[in-house]
Amino acid sequence: MSVDEGLDHNGEYSTAENVEDFRINIAEVNRRIASAAERVGREPGEIELLPVSKTVPQERIRAAVAAGCHKLGENKVQEAFRKSDEMADLDIDWAVIGHLQSNKARDVAKFASEFQALDRLKVAAALDRRLEAAGRSLDVYVQVNTSAEESKFGMPPEELLGFLRELPQFPTLKVQGLMTLAVFSSDIDRVRTCFQRLRTLRDQAQETDPELIGSGKLSMGMSGDYEVAIEEGANCVRVGQAIFGRRALPDSYYWPENG
Ligand SMILES: *Cc1c(COP(=O)(O)O)cnc(C)c1O
Repeated sequence: MSVDEGLDHNGEYSTAENVEDFRINIAEVNRRIASAAERVGREPGEIELLPVSKTVPQERIRAAVAAGCHKLGENKVQEAFRKSDEMADLDIDWAVIGHLQSNKARDVAKFASEFQALDRLKVAAALDRRLEAAGRSLDVYVQVNTSAEESKFGMPPEELLGFLRELPQFPTLKVQGLMTLAVFSSDIDRVRTCFQRLRTLRDQAQETDPELIGSGKLSMGMSGDYEVAIEEGANCVRVGQAIFGRRALPDSYYWPENG
């Protein structure tokens, strides 16, 4: 596989079928993470690679786990919950990274260790109630819409501080930082602007309300743009296709507003 394979914005990602394929793809992503970090004088160790396994069937996920993945991101609760059950024999931490309806909070409270798409108080309240009953806590990222009119998920930037100030009433939710999806564009400057917005919001929150934003991590960047995200300060990159291979379902299935 040539060095540039696996990161084509048009989706020419090589599909990993077995443990060795996964080792190769993961090593390549880690190599790119390290060089992006190096370009801006950051430590690769401060960047978490979160493999995103949505749509990937159990057999291939098992190979990924054997290749070293112990935390996996999934966009849809139902799918994640089913997989956590099917693979209960494995040691996997599940991160739900997609939009959540408050009536699914109960499922998330059962199996997830992290939720990255918190953007409404109603969902926070529903999660807290279920988590408290289960005697559990949940790491959360607050999702911010940094691409303005182009996405309906994530809260408007101007509402972030007010939202963070409400969260301490939900003690089972452990705020880790902020999450965003950049605009879907091949124009790298527009993508970069989204990441910069998230970083600026984090910096402002750390100024005014440091106790409300945990360690202030930034979850941003996916297969097509994680190197740019790292240059702009990402602490968690959510990478699916560059590790697992191209998805058959179009992204509009996950982000209907872009379809
Ligand atoms: C699918 C998904 C990703 C990963 O996208 P890839 O193109 O597969 O890297 C990241 N974040 C969210 C919220 C996703 O749903």
